[in-house]
Amino acid sequence: MSKETFAYLSLGSNMGNKLYYIVSAIQRINITKGVKVSKISSFYETDPWGVKEQDSFYNIALEIRTTLLPFDLLRTLQKIETNLRRKRELRWGPRTIDIDIIFYGDLKIGIEELTVPHPRYRYRNFVLKPMYEVYPHNEYLLKYMKIDSSKIKKVIPKILVSSCLMGENCNYKGGNSKNDLLIKLRDRVEYILICPEVMGGLGIPRVPAEIKDGKIITKDDKDVTAEFEIGAFLALEKAVKRGCSLAIMKGKSPSCGFGKIYSGNFTGDLIDGDGITAKLFIKNKIDIISV
Ligand code: ATP
Ligand code: MG
Ligand code: MG
Repeated sequence: MSKETFAYLSLGSNMGNKLYYIVSAIQRINITKGVKVSKISSFYETDPWGVKEQDSFYNIALEIRTTLLPFDLLRTLQKIETNLRRKRELRWGPRTIDIDIIFYGDLKIGIEELTVPHPRYRYRNFVLKPMYEVYPHNEYLLKYMKIDSSKIKKVIPKILVSSCLMGENCNYKGGNSKNDLLIKLRDRVEYILICPEVMGGLGIPRVPAEIKDGKIITKDDKDVTAEFEIGAFLALEKAVKRGCSLAIMKGKSPSCGFGKIYSGNFTGDLIDGDGITAKLFIKNKIDIISV
């Protein structure tokens, strides 16, 4: 392990659900061993750079603290790009996600595989502007910002989020699953909180429930499928009304779980599957990030 270093990353997306790709990348970077996201900039919508005939971008900047060495960090970020369906077909062309290392401490490296500071950052307001928010004591950022006059607009994306992840005591035990990264993101986005169980009329605390043969059954054998379904529809209604295309949901739960859920035997085992609300969201083209 090397000592902890501050590094600064620039993220961009202009394909598919841009918000999904940017937030997924932030979350995946944050759960990487040896990396912690310490600051997140605002979201910016920006004109394409290099190749003009393509969709506009979402861009952000991150400050991270990392014990990974520069090349290990680069490879880790490239793996995240690949897992988020990044393809390299056209230089500076459309991409689901691009994650560039702009600075790695004060280090200077000048080889093709890794150049830091990034060789083109000073010509790009879409890097400089968000970067200045997370690295305000870097005097060059403001100076270079004047060179590029391309359009760049701050946006506040709307994101649905499971209330328990934001620290609301609404899980079956009357507790929460507060997530520090999502709390950090709070100043940059507009969260729309949902708890499908509570929206469906179930109390706090409540008897735990799991999905068994397509029904949702409590540990004391009551069928609460109807309550879960009502909650799911109300959550969807909220999403549609507010124009949300992304939901960040609590993993494993019979309502919000996505990809993996509890087995239905109350043993803590997981099986492949989605919760009732997650299923309804996917059907309605709302992308889900499970945490
Ligand atoms: P640009 O570098 O102009 O922003 P890009 O991000 O679209 O273009 P990529 O296809 O993501 O380019 O990366 C091309 C190569 O750049 C990668 O193979 C990578 O090894 C190399 N590279 C060099 N310096 C860096 C850096 N600081 N951050 C990320 N990749 C880098
Ligand atoms: Mg780039
Ligand atoms: Mg890149």
